[in-house]
Amino acid sequence: AQKRYDGFRDLPAQTLDGAVIELHMNAGLMADLPSLAGSGALGVGLFRTELQFLIRNKMPQRAELAQLYARVMDASKGKPVCFRTLDIGSDKVLPYMKPQDEPNPAMGWRALRVGLDKPGVLRMQLQALIRASKGRPLTVMFPFVSEFGEFKMARSHVLRELHREKSLGHPVPEVVKIGAMLETPSLAFAPDDFFRLADFLSIGGNDLKQFFFAADRENERVRKRYDVLNYSFLGFMEQIIARCAPFGTRLSYCGEDAGRPIEALAFAALGLRVLSMRPASIGPVKALLRSADLRVAREVMDEARDKGAESAREALGAYLSRLQV
Ligand code: PEP
Ligand code: MG
Repeated sequence: AQKRYDGFRDLPAQTLDGAVIELHMNAGLMADLPSLAGSGALGVGLFRTELQFLIRNKMPQRAELAQLYARVMDASKGKPVCFRTLDIGSDKVLPYMKPQDEPNPAMGWRALRVGLDKPGVLRMQLQALIRASKGRPLTVMFPFVSEFGEFKMARSHVLRELHREKSLGHPVPEVVKIGAMLETPSLAFAPDDFFRLADFLSIGGNDLKQFFFAADRENERVRKRYDVLNYSFLGFMEQIIARCAPFGTRLSYCGEDAGRPIEALAFAALGLRVLSMRPASIGPVKALLRSADLRVAREVMDEARDKGAESAREALGAYLSRLQV
């Protein structure tokens, strides 16, 4: 099936009305990297770093991690890789970490909360990333940032480690970009200074959706009940886009929904210009975007809403079926 899309692997995801959407891929293993060339992704928009921690029975060492991250950067051949720091805790228990007995682990002591409270592992991971870069550009993204203060603290850890590495005589990255995942609704309401300070933001739709609708992403019974194409969620995304715009804060969407055709079209029609998805989705999403007109898609969405639809899904699906993909 992937062959069908080979013809435009190296062409941009440009819509009929001239918008260019950057398509990046999500990854988490060395084995994912060959897909970077194969899929035509512009970079790795989300590199989940949990796996290297989960597959071991003891904490990985800094040197091991640095070696792995360096191999990931080598394999990306100059395409950007966005490394997300450890998103762990509660339900994703490390075998060598004391289990926390929490009634609501998804809203518990996880991700950056652990990283800030017990910064040893976070700092080690940042050191590994800096060493792996060997002077090349580095992009670091923090998961599950809920408020500006957390981002400032996380960012200051990066600056401190950069300073430390430099003073130890190690080469430091020529350019460092520091960003946050927007996965909790609260972050969309952070002060302007947050949007000024963050080099980029990435909407973690898997988590954002669960907190927006208060529907556990692990619970089959409620998970499918709510639609990201519901106008309430789309309206929220528009607000996020509007918060970023005045500061030029780069915004992407890296939740699984970005790789679904109708969703990708809707997000682009709202104004998102960077999507990160499973490598296998890049071909189909590019095919669709190249044959779509975002202004028409937007009209279709608005019209359905004005007629009382709760979700844009049906109307966009009908528009899609008329396209020559
Ligand atoms: C997300 O929440 O959308 C996301 C990309 O992160 P994860 O799925 O790893 O929680
Ligand atoms: Mg998440």
